[in-house]
Amino acid sequence: MAKTYDPQNIFAKILRGEIPNKTVLETEHSLAFHDIAPQAPHHVLVIPKGAHVCYDDFALEASEAEIVDFTRAVGEVCRMLGVQPGEGGAGFRLISNAGDHGLQEVPHLHVHILAGRRLGRMLPLPE
Ligand code: 5GP
Repeated sequence: MAKTYDPQNIFAKILRGEIPNKTVLETEHSLAFHDIAPQAPHHVLVIPKGAHVCYDDFALEASEAEIVDFTRAVGEVCRMLGVQPGEGGAGFRLISNAGDHGLQEVPHLHVHILAGRRLGRMLPLPE
């Protein structure tokens, strides 16, 4: 996927307050909110506030402050959901889709935190 950022993507609109969201956590550089179409009992999206299209772009281009904030936000959401495996939780799956083969729908970096049930195979078997 090209790194060209589309400021009209739906998560950019959420960040600008043009579309409502169910916020789980907001930090200086990140926002976490419930997915509109949850695929597990817990399905939270974590996004950076900066204009980053996907994970590789963010990992290579974002400031250290943004990367630390985003990474800590993911951990904090896991703690808030009570899903940390080492802390009595039953675990979770972290997914970040990118580009065409990754079937990324929204071109603003997001990680999915999925939890609350056994999540099955990581990928479907090839057809
Ligand atoms: P992707 O396929 O890009 O990894 O995931 C995009 C996710 O964004 C999907 O799980 C979809 O349900 C979620 N989503 C799309 N539009 C909205 C919206 O307006 N609000 C929220 N909260 N989630 C959305």
